[in-house]
Formats: sequence, C-alpha cells, structure tokens
Amino acid sequence: MSAAPILPGPVAGGGRLATLGVMGGGQLGRMFVHAAQALGYQTAVLDPDATSPAGRVSDYHVATAYDDEQGLAQLMQRCEAITTEFENVPAGALATLAAQRPVAPGPQAVAVAQDRIAEKAHFAACARAGGVGPAPHAAIVSPADLAAVPDALLPGILKTARLGYDGKGQVRVADRAALATAWAQLGRVPCVLEQHLALRDELSVIVARGADGALVHFPVQRNLHRDGILAVTEVLPGRVSPALAEQAIGATCAIAAQLRYVGVLCVEFFVVDDGSADGALVVNEMAPRPHNSGHYTIDACDVSQFELQVRTLAGLPLPTPRQHSAAIMLNLLGDLWWRDGQPVTPDWAGVLALPGTHLHLYGKHDARPGRKMGHLTITAATAEAAQQTARAAAERLGIAPWR
Ligand code: ADP
Ligand code: MG
Repeated sequence: MSAAPILPGPVAGGGRLATLGVMGGGQLGRMFVHAAQALGYQTAVLDPDATSPAGRVSDYHVATAYDDEQGLAQLMQRCEAITTEFENVPAGALATLAAQRPVAPGPQAVAVAQDRIAEKAHFAACARAGGVGPAPHAAIVSPADLAAVPDALLPGILKTARLGYDGKGQVRVADRAALATAWAQLGRVPCVLEQHLALRDELSVIVARGADGALVHFPVQRNLHRDGILAVTEVLPGRVSPALAEQAIGATCAIAAQLRYVGVLCVEFFVVDDGSADGALVVNEMAPRPHNSGHYTIDACDVSQFELQVRTLAGLPLPTPRQHSAAIMLNLLGDLWWRDGQPVTPDWAGVLALPGTHLHLYGKHDARPGRKMGHLTITAATAEAAQQTARAAAERLGIAPWR
C-alpha cells in the first residue's frame, strides 16, 4: 500500500475523479460502490455478469472473467486502488493487480482465507499467542489422512478446503463409513473434517485495519444461521456477555494483526458449553471483506463496514465506529417471493410502515430459494423495541420466529 492517501473527488490537475475498483459484482460490491460514491469517488467493478448488482450501480463495469488479462488491465487503468468483495478471486488475478496498484486486502491474506486448512493453521498459531482456537479438526488430502482420522472428530462435518459458502461444500458425517462416502461425494478434493460441536450461540466480529496498523472494530454481532445460511443478526445491548465480547474482539484483532491485514475482516465464532456460565469461544472462519453480519452498520452505526472498506483502501483515517441504535438484521432470501409454489411480492408496504425499518434490495431479478435478495435492518432506541419490531416484520414477511 502506498503511504499517501487517495483523496476523493477531482484528482489534482483536474479532468478526472479519483477511482476505486472492486473485484466482484455481488451485493457486497454494490454496497462498497454506494459508500465510495457517497464519499465522492468514482468506482469500477470487474465481474463477468453484465447484470451484476454492483456492476449496475458502478461508474464503470468491466464485464470479463476475473483472470482475463485485458479486463485486469482495464481495471488498473481506471483505478488508483482495488479491493475485493469475495474471497474466491483467483490468486493470480490479485497478484497481477497488486504488482501495479495498491490492493487491499493483499493477495497473501486472501490466500489464507481461501483455504480452510491454511486458515485453521493461522487461527491455531494466533491461539498459541493467547487467542481463541479453532474446533478440533483434521486436514484430509489423501486416503491415508482419511484412515488416520481420530475417532474424537466423529460425528463431524466434512468441509471442502476451498470454495465453500453458505453451507455449500459441507456434509455432516456420523461415522467412518459416512465420512468415506462424503469425501467421495465431494470429489476427494482437499477437505477439513471438524468435530460437530453443540453450539450455544454464533458470534462475529468485524475489524478494519489500516496499512499503518491502526485497528478499529464494530460491536460483537450475534448470528442465527438456518440451513447454513445467515438468517438473523442481532446487535443489542446486553445480548452478549462482556467477557466473551472482549475475548472475541481480542482474538479478531490478533488474527488481523498477525496477517498484517489491510482492509475489513470478519471473523466468525462459535460459543460452546464448557461448564462455565458464558460458555467458551471457538473460532470458525474468516472473511477477507465486509460480511453479511455487518450490514446493520449502514443504518445503526456512525460509520459502516463499507465506508471503512473504502477508507482502508484509500488510506484515510479510521475512526472507532459508534453504534447509535440497537439493531436486528433479517436476511431476505428468495424464498420470501414464493408461497405455496406461487410467486408473490412480499408485503413491503406493511414492513415499511413499522418504525425504524430499513429495506435494502440488491437489484437481483430472479428470486430463487436460498438466494440472498436483500436484507432488512430494524433500528430502535432499545433492545426490546428492536425485538418487537423485528418480530412484527418477520411475521409480515413469513420469516420463522427465532429466540
Ligand atoms: P460457510 O463458509 O458456508 O459459512 P461455515 O463453516 O461457517 O461455512 O458453516 C456454516 C454454518 O454451519 C455455521 O455457521 C454453523 O451454523 C454450522 N457449523 C459449521 N461448522 C460446525 C461445527 N463444527 N459444529 C457445529 N456446527 C457447525
Ligand atoms: Mg460461515
């Protein structure tokens, strides 16, 4: 990263606006574009899909494959600096960009997040320095690894080392026979077998780290997943024990600092029973980018995770975020557009009639089950008020209740 900040607005000498680029055109890229444009930057998105959510709102859209030499050259020609909105950007593409432009997060950090085996090794190394460790696990890359799996890891969850998301690329396995079948089913690609843990809760922490090492964090988020997909995020006063929160934030800061990470990073945690009142933390995985569990920051904090992504990329100051409202985020999956097999339009008017509701739809045309179409953030002065409104909104949308 260059030391001089990339300031927004007209570039000195005139004629053009400072431009920030993003690899990937999904909803995270779209919200990055919105934040960058609000500050006065132009944006460029590289995504092969001509109708991608971010491409459609960006000043420039390079619609080529991620590893297309000409596409990458066009992106570099437009942009002073480039970030990514998904972790599976081809490593070679990021390296090509990083050779000529500031790229945050850097290719090495993204490479660790791309591979569950490397990721868990990094977590284990950070845990030795006093942090929080990963779930008991074993890497499976050969039939010998499969045979050597300790009984203690079963029942377990077999996860592909690469390219998994929203619970995809994962199989629950009860015993050794099921494990062998599952590995074959996943194509015998490198995998991680994790012990299946009884989860009391799931938490996440989002930090932003500058090239100078400055680190700021958002409050701890409490997440509810359904079918491996995030369904609800709650960020309410008193919801997470202060001791667990402090530990989760400390572990996330260590994970970012030891990677010399630059950008926005989210780390997900499990809370498991260990006999103590609070339970114990286990680190699950990290995302080298803003995260679905941080979407509430747009409406409930004085700086959003996307603005911090812009600031880390441009080398601007990183203020400590302040949450000004209790917040609950409901993910809006494509299922909401269907009832009894018939297409329907969700009751937006009913939802928007509720106080403190903030609707974000990502511009996707086809509502398919399980597809992230948007999210709804509910903000309120108190946890109780946020919960009451969120329950009413969920009921109007047909989202099942949660505890
Ligand atoms: P993804 O990349 O799909 O988000 P995760 O590893 O975060 O993959 O798994 C998705 C969800 O599956 C988690 O949020 C959690 O609810 C559940 N899960 C994953 N690993 C375990 C485990 N070892 N024990 C119990 N539940 C798990
Ligand atoms: Mg996850």
